Amino acid sequence: MTTVQNPEHPINHHGQLNSSSAPPALEARSIYKTFRERKQEIQVLDGLSLAVQPGQFVSIIGPSGSGKSTLFHIIGGLTAPDAGSIWMNGADVTGQKGRIAYMPQQPALFPWRTVLDNVLLPRELAGMDKEHTIQEARRWIERAGLSEFEQAYPHTLSGGMQQRTAFLRAMMSPHEVMCLDEPFSALDALTRSDMQHWLLDIWEENRRSVLMITHHIEEALLLSDTVYVLSSRPAQVLQKIDVPFPRPRRENILSDPAFLEMKGAISSMMREELKK
Ligand code: ADP
Ligand code: MG
Repeated sequence: MTTVQNPEHPINHHGQLNSSSAPPALEARSIYKTFRERKQEIQVLDGLSLAVQPGQFVSIIGPSGSGKSTLFHIIGGLTAPDAGSIWMNGADVTGQKGRIAYMPQQPALFPWRTVLDNVLLPRELAGMDKEHTIQEARRWIERAGLSEFEQAYPHTLSGGMQQRTAFLRAMMSPHEVMCLDEPFSALDALTRSDMQHWLLDIWEENRRSVLMITHHIEEALLLSDTVYVLSSRPAQVLQKIDVPFPRPRRENILSDPAFLEMKGAISSMMREELKK
């Protein structure tokens, strides 16, 4: 049977991505970055390349301090690369700000805004009507278990609740590509697992293009179509792994022998890398 490719839609009728039909939603091409401070030079990124196809969920796993957040700053136009470029949908957008939905590693909520007003901010900045989006924001807040805290200020929330609020704020961004920097790191194991399944459900409904940084191998495999494993600093791609498990994915894949084997392989790759 032949596969019909619809160039207008990133997902074909088999539920697979039409990777050949459209340029990547997001692409980093051969990024180099060295920080120079006083007499010290820290080379952070060493020709790093990766791509997120439209509607794909891609994760980056790498040792701490390897340059993952720096890559996100470069993608977001907050830091200039020494060499290399960032592309979105076939256009060079290197250095341009305000093109992605970005959840930074630190939640960076506005302290003078309530949870609801923080979540509404991206729509406000995009000049979209507040009344129109307030209902949608409330639905997200409810789905994240934060309804009771809608009118609370960030400093009164736990780290995990702040992270969930920052995540919702990224969800509300009108930009199609989401960059999530360790979105669940402040959550305890149980909440983290709940939030992973929550994100999985939401993503499978909406299919935005996502690039997520995580330390958590199981989380990366559960959520992603592709996982990039990075080396220690200066970061290069050690391996690009295509995750074959069909969607929708459920909790039971965590105990699938093929899943456990991939998890073990990535884990030993990372242990080897840390020994160097
Ligand atoms: P990761 O997110 O993978 O943990 P980062 O990208 O945050 O790593 O940092 C990588 C390295 O670059 C670290 O050694 C960090 O200290 C250094 N670094 C990050 N930002 C700067 C900066 N603005 N100036 C100097 N050094 C920096
Ligand atoms: Mg980081």
